[in-house]
Amino acid sequence: MTFYQPVGNEIELFQAAAGNGLPVLIKGPTGCGKTRFVRFMAEKLGRPVYTVACHDDLTAADLVGRHLIGPDGTYWQDGPLTRAVREGGICYLDEVVEARKDTTVVLHPLADDRRELPIERTGELLQAAPGFMLVVSYNPGYQSLLKGMKPSTRQRFVSLSFDYPEAAAEQAIVIEESGCDRELAEQLVGLARSVRNLKDHDLEEAASTRLLIHTAHLVRAGVPVAEACRAGMIEPLTDDEATVSALMEVVYAVF
Ligand code: ADP
Repeated sequence: MTFYQPVGNEIELFQAAAGNGLPVLIKGPTGCGKTRFVRFMAEKLGRPVYTVACHDDLTAADLVGRHLIGPDGTYWQDGPLTRAVREGGICYLDEVVEARKDTTVVLHPLADDRRELPIERTGELLQAAPGFMLVVSYNPGYQSLLKGMKPSTRQRFVSLSFDYPEAAAEQAIVIEESGCDRELAEQLVGLARSVRNLKDHDLEEAASTRLLIHTAHLVRAGVPVAEACRAGMIEPLTDDEATVSALMEVVYAVF
C-alpha cells in the first residue's frame, strides 16, 4: 500500500465525494502531496487511476482519444479520460489550469450529474461507469488571472485545500520517504519552516516537502549536510545568487 500521511480530514472528504460520484478539486502548492494523496485514495477505493500532467499543448483529443493508423487501417484509441469513464476509474488531471480551454469543455458534462462524455469523433455518448471520478488539481500560487479556472468550472467540484503539513506530520513523511533518522528530519523540517517564513525573499514558491525528501536522500548518500541543502533545497528554489546566499545563511544557522 502506498504510504500517505493524512494532514486533516481529506481522506473522509474524498471518500464522501467518491461515494456520491462528485468530482474533486485539490488546490495547493507544488510538492505538498496532492498526487500522492490521489494515488493512495485510488488504492484505498480499489479503483484504477489515470494521471495526466496538463500543459498548454494538451488537447481534448489527448484526454478523450483519437484515431490512429495501424497495419489494418485506422482504429480508435481511448485516451486516459475515456478509459477512466469506461472502467469506473479515477481520472486525475494535474495542474488543470494549464490545459487549453477546449479541454475544460469536455470536462463539464462529466463534472455534473449528467456524468457523460460525448465523443465527437466516433459519435458515442458514454455514460460514466459508477466508480468514475474526476479529480483535478491546481496551484493557486502560480495561477495568473488569465488562466484562473472559470467559476462555472470551479463550482462543479468539491474542493480540498492542501498546504505543507504540520511539523510532526512532515517529519514522519521525511523519515518514511527517505529512511533518514529522526534528528535529521527534525532539522530539515525546522529549516524548511524558517525558509517558508522568510518574508523578504522573491521566491515563486516555498520549499516543498518533496525538496526535504531529496535533501535527506543526499545526506544519506554521504553528501555533507550544507551541500545537500544547497543542491536539494535551496538551488531548486531560485536562480538569484543573492537569494541563494541569503537562504544558505539560514542553512548555516541550523547545521
Ligand atoms: P504534488 O502532487 O502536490 O506536487 P506529490 O504528491 O508529488 O506533490 O508529493 C511530493 C512528494 O512528497 C511525494 O512523492 C511524497 O514523497 C511526499 N509527500 C508529500 N506529502 C505527503 C504525505 N502527506 N504523505 C506521504 N508523502 C508525502
